[in-house]
Amino acid sequence: MRALVALVLVLPFALARPLDGVPPEYTAQAAQHAFAFTTLPVENPTHSFWTHGAPDANPLARVGSTGPLPPAADVCVVGSGISGVSVAHHLAHLLSAHPVPSVRVAIFEARDFCSGATGRNGGHLTPYSFAHFGDAENVFGTREAARAVALEDHVADSIAALADAHGWANEIDLVAGGRISLGDADVLAGARDDFARAESARVDGLENVEWIEKDAMRERFGTAYAGWRTPGNNVWPLKFVTRLFGLAQASPALNLTLHTHAPVTSITPSANTTDDASGRWTLHTPRGTTSCGTIVHAANAYTRFLLPEFAITPVRGQVIATRARADANLSLDAFLLEGMYWFPRPADDEHRGPLIVLGGGHTPGTYNDAVRDPVIGKDLRAFLPSVFPGKFDVDTEPEVEWTGIMGFTPSGDPYVGPVRGAPGQFVTAGFSGHGMPRAFGCADVVARMVAGRLNGSGEWDVPAWLPRHYLTDTDGARGL
Ligand SMILES: Cc1cc2nc3c(=O)[nH]c(=O)nc-3n(C[C@H](O)[C@H](O)[C@H](O)COP(=O)(O)OP(=O)(O)OC[C@H]3O[C@@H](n4cnc5c(N)ncnc54)[C@H](O)[C@@H]3O)c2cc1C
Repeated sequence: MRALVALVLVLPFALARPLDGVPPEYTAQAAQHAFAFTTLPVENPTHSFWTHGAPDANPLARVGSTGPLPPAADVCVVGSGISGVSVAHHLAHLLSAHPVPSVRVAIFEARDFCSGATGRNGGHLTPYSFAHFGDAENVFGTREAARAVALEDHVADSIAALADAHGWANEIDLVAGGRISLGDADVLAGARDDFARAESARVDGLENVEWIEKDAMRERFGTAYAGWRTPGNNVWPLKFVTRLFGLAQASPALNLTLHTHAPVTSITPSANTTDDASGRWTLHTPRGTTSCGTIVHAANAYTRFLLPEFAITPVRGQVIATRARADANLSLDAFLLEGMYWFPRPADDEHRGPLIVLGGGHTPGTYNDAVRDPVIGKDLRAFLPSVFPGKFDVDTEPEVEWTGIMGFTPSGDPYVGPVRGAPGQFVTAGFSGHGMPRAFGCADVVARMVAGRLNGSGEWDVPAWLPRHYLTDTDGARGL
């Protein structure tokens, strides 16, 4: 019987695709912890390069961390990562097209602003393109697999266009460097198969894929693997989210407030449960309560603390920022190999080698990002000198080393939409280690639902690029 229970827990994770460097065995291990326990984000997380790598890295870190909370808000957002802030951004856009008077949006964050996965990730804003297309097609069908590609392309293009329109590209270190996936003969064969299937499905953008043989790779990049290059970006994620927050806050369509160090500990129905405008739900924090008409859960790995019915499992990732040799002569491309992912940041000192952000090594079943795993740390330190002989010194110590918590779902895809049995509550979470090219689009979908609720129509347009299987469904069935 015990074996059967273990199998039931593990099986859904067999569907999970390896995501931004997370090998499938980690998702399988994660399943064993799926329903074990859940916590709020821990205090005193490790400092990441993105949150602490520059004096002005996180100007919003403690905004709204003291003083009273608003007694009421029309929309309360739990979480200030890319998801929560993108919901506010899209709402501002939607409501300025169809104004609803005085919409008060309040973002509640347990720790510093954007100090969850978005503030401590690997910085890749790179669509999968055709990668994993075959798995997605097998499980969800051709149209859904094609929509998953379309969503990621849409998000990467939208963020690049936003950065362009507002002149942010330099400030947020947005680099369209592309990403090279490296691998052995088996990996290459799998990729060729995915590519052929995506081609048959007429997926857009495949003409931009470049296959690179071993010799050419050695000559161009100094490493002995074959692989393929797809369009991709890397970015300072926290700086992007900070700019996005500023844009939403400047919008006349919203009255947007931020409340950091305000962990949401529970949500209960308000006494007057029929009055959406003045507050159907009461949101509780150690600093007091807020009455909310609508709630958006954007807490990703921590979703189950407030919504235990959602199958989202924590997996801790570890990342280092380390220098290459001054004479390394590296391109600005990002790379992916055997669960490790890395890219060089734009040069910051002509006398030193570039700083490389390298992620990999995962610990399933923990919410603790206040510690680093020394064994994983050892692997990370040894990795780049082995892949690029002569370009890294083996005894170079990383300048920064940190951890962060990802939230995995059984399919590897997020939950987007209404929360069943809780009218006026929505969720966008479970990005399974691959949120940068998806969360902004999923937040758009939830913002459309919320705007429909605010204007009383209850209607929203389904974007063509949205994989329908991401939706929790109109009756909130998925993920529960
Ligand atoms: C180490 C690591 C490397 C990664 N690398 C990449 C990568 O290179 N490319 C990529 O695409 N993806 C990557 N990811 C995944 C990506 O970072 C996430 O998918 C994405 O950032 C999720 O954004 P989010 O806003 O949904 O969640 P988060 O950024 O985690 O934001 C959720 C926020 O909610 C807050 N919160 C939680 N519970 C509560 C509560 N009860 N009350 C108030 N606040 C609460 C948290 O403190 C947090 O700030 C990586 C993740 C990690 C951890």
